[in-house]
Amino acid sequence: MSDDQNTPQMASPEVCTVCGVKIQKAIGRDVVIFATGAQSSRDVLYERVCRHVKDRPGCINKAV
Ligand SMILES: [Zn+2]
Repeated sequence: MSDDQNTPQMASPEVCTVCGVKIQKAIGRDVVIFATGAQSSRDVLYERVCRHVKDRPGCINKAV
């Protein structure tokens, strides 16, 4: 019996709680899903959102 809901699973999307977006890991390219439903790339996510919150802990999309 385990209530651990933070177990990493490769197939499930990560959620950036700071930016409010989902990152679906895919082979060769990760897909970012914005709250609006639009899909994009990690680079665009970083430019639009994550670089503005880089001083806050918890953002899962770091600069590469
Ligand atoms: Zn983020």
